[in-house]
Amino acid sequence: MKVLKFGGTSVANAENIEKVKDIVVNNSKEEKTTIIVSAFGGVTDMLVKASLLASSLDEDYKNVLEEIEERHIKTAQELISINNQSKVISNIKRELNVLETLLEGAFLIGEITPKLLDKIVGYGELLSSFIINEYFVKEGLESVHKDSRLLIKTDDSFGKAIVDFKTTNELCENYFGTVSYQVIVVPGFVASSAKGESTTLGRGGSDYTAAIIAAAINSDALEIWTDVSGMYTANPKLVKQAFAIPHISYQEAMELSHFGAKVLYPPTIQPVLSKGIPIHIKNTFAPNEEGTLITKNNNGKARAVRGISHVESISLISLEGSGMVGIPGISKRFFEVLSEAKVSVVFITQASSEHSICIGVASADAEKARTALNKGFEYEMTLKKINPVIVEDDLAIVALVGDNMKSHQGLSGRMFSALGKNNVNIRAIAQGASERNISAVINKNDVKKALNTLHEQFFEDNIKQLNLFVMGVGNVGEKFLAQIEKQRKFLKKQLKLNIRVVALSNSRKMIFNENGIDLKNWKTLLDEGEKTGLEAFYDKVKELNLRNSIFVDNTANEVVANTYENYLNDSISVVTCNKIAASSPYKNYIHLKELSRQYNAPFLFETNVGAGLPIIDTLKNLIASGDKITKIQAVLSGSLNFVFNNFNDKTDFHEVVKEAQDEGYTEPDPKIDLSGIDVMRKILILARESGHEIDIEEIENEAFLPQESLDTNSVEDFYKSLVKNKAHFDKIYNDAASKDCRLKYVAQFEDGKAKVGLQHIPKDHPFYNLEGKDNIVLFFTERYTEQPLIIKGAGAGADVTASGIFADIIRIGNF
Ligand code: ADP
Ligand code: ASP
Ligand code: MG
Repeated sequence: MKVLKFGGTSVANAENIEKVKDIVVNNSKEEKTTIIVSAFGGVTDMLVKASLLASSLDEDYKNVLEEIEERHIKTAQELISINNQSKVISNIKRELNVLETLLEGAFLIGEITPKLLDKIVGYGELLSSFIINEYFVKEGLESVHKDSRLLIKTDDSFGKAIVDFKTTNELCENYFGTVSYQVIVVPGFVASSAKGESTTLGRGGSDYTAAIIAAAINSDALEIWTDVSGMYTANPKLVKQAFAIPHISYQEAMELSHFGAKVLYPPTIQPVLSKGIPIHIKNTFAPNEEGTLITKNNNGKARAVRGISHVESISLISLEGSGMVGIPGISKRFFEVLSEAKVSVVFITQASSEHSICIGVASADAEKARTALNKGFEYEMTLKKINPVIVEDDLAIVALVGDNMKSHQGLSGRMFSALGKNNVNIRAIAQGASERNISAVINKNDVKKALNTLHEQFFEDNIKQLNLFVMGVGNVGEKFLAQIEKQRKFLKKQLKLNIRVVALSNSRKMIFNENGIDLKNWKTLLDEGEKTGLEAFYDKVKELNLRNSIFVDNTANEVVANTYENYLNDSISVVTCNKIAASSPYKNYIHLKELSRQYNAPFLFETNVGAGLPIIDTLKNLIASGDKITKIQAVLSGSLNFVFNNFNDKTDFHEVVKEAQDEGYTEPDPKIDLSGIDVMRKILILARESGHEIDIEEIENEAFLPQESLDTNSVEDFYKSLVKNKAHFDKIYNDAASKDCRLKYVAQFEDGKAKVGLQHIPKDHPFYNLEGKDNIVLFFTERYTEQPLIIKGAGAGADVTASGIFADIIRIGNF
């Protein structure tokens, strides 16, 4: 004989019940089959709600009852043909009338006892099993209904009654030994006490009913049919990448369900485990999928970590006090008090010190635990030997589970470092003595991020998902998005990086999509977005709380740069081409670098110097490998290089500047380039990245612009001054040409001092042949003494800048 259990969703409506029938027909052809059914999905909750409303004198319970009635009658009408309906419907109505009377009772006395509640909530299964059996019979199955209250006997701890296995096993053996029907339909969840009063086996208890019966009759197998294709590596509703585990041991399944894998009610395993009956979890809506097989041993070849589960709504309870050291039997009393108060302990921290004991309980039990403990240790508390109990709420547990974890080193290290990198604060840790689970107490708000982080770490073959929050979609931003769109597939395959742009913002609008914004269509989507704001954007990033988050600033805006601190503080990495932060006062620059280190969140700005050229990265690598920078010499302005490459005795200075501006090589205000400010910022950043404390005011700037041009207040006036000072510029050219030199705007850093200015470059110098808008940097170091390390190439332009930002993001991916 086989036992099949169908859960609430599987029997939620007529359409689903037809699917159940197909599965039952298939199974019962060969052998007798017992079917355990849950209440129609959601009905138990409705019954609980109606009871609470009635007992708090709220007449709304009648509406809930009406809804329950409609649901059952409608389902019966859909399943059973009109000619056969009347007897079935009148039976349902009779049961519902009793239910109504019970609820009325609760309403009249304004109270509900656990006993009455059990009687009421059991109606869900009683009704569903009755309707399903009638349907099976009408469909020609040799089927019979059997009330589980006549099979399963319990004590009278209502709400979660304890099974009397001896009596239950006898009753089951007697009944199933003699029953002649091919299909037996049994309500799950309900049972009865020795006195014959209805009891229930706890929420989710239909699984348990099925296991109790399967064990009692030595069934060949127990099948749990539900709405997912097995026991998953993590709750599939929270972790999209989770997948069904093909084969798992009883112990592993028990740990996973104990720590919240709702797909199996935790007590279910015990009865079948002792008989070695395999459990198969299958999907009613995809019956051909393999599902999960639970047996004594898992197939040992699998991964060390089998699954990740979590329990929401946990509270930590701590008992502390200097006087605890001397008092004998504290722990014993502590746990006795909780046991008497019927508080179940979900989590015990292993390293309870002599001064304190700390445990985790379901938040619903926290107040009960506090009251009981404060009372239990009242005497010691009045003597001030023990402090009043401390309760911390809004916590959750995440747990890694696997039989083979004990033979693998470093798993907990990986677990905590992955969580730490993502700013998941860990409040308490416990490792089961069996080493079958490692669990951590974290903030409730971090559950989704923690599960996804751990799943990525242990199950996704090192595919790392990067979540980008992009601000600024101008020239650079637009190119950047196009590059991501183009490279996504390659990166996933080759670098195992899954890059998603989760947010976009320009100066007016912003959009968010947790599953990744469609980059083919981002412009339209952004146009239709909501009003943006730096704070609103940041709040949303925080609210989403995704793992591996990166804030990408493609603006040149100071106020945006001022928000980096917030992101780094939350362990969100920052990548930017905006020079403001890295060239701001040294105190601020170093503060950001420190935050980055403290919160394990990279702060990268490679594109601040030389666009996409790997200048800062090379510098960092030199220093990390123990080299020392002695001198930096560089041409760092693509725009100035363009200007001085094109300015000669046949051209006018102001025309060349205009051309550079028209080509997009200068800042919108060309004075920023020509005055040397932009180059000062760049050499400042290089000096700082080489380890020097320096500020912009300390940089010497030998301006080549006449004072009159420097003093202008508009772009127009600036150009006018260039025209007016034609002779000044021609002289600059002629002076250089007469010495056979070219003009280059050079930045230099040596002996802790930085300066920028126009220089005469002779023919044999590496700068002489610098073309177009190229940049060049010479690093003289303790290792590169005679010949410097040279980096040269295109140092301006949206495309190369975008690819530099991209490179920083890949660096974070490999971090
Ligand atoms: P039923 O009504 O069939 O008893 P449940 O709702 O009790 O179904 O259990 C199935 C649900 O368990 C799934 O829909 C899923 O949301 C949840 N769940 C939580 N953790 C897991 C897990 N690790 N694997 C599969 N399902 C899980
Ligand atoms: N119907 C009960 C509940 O919702 C039992 C079950 O479905 O397993 O908790
Ligand atoms: Mg269930």
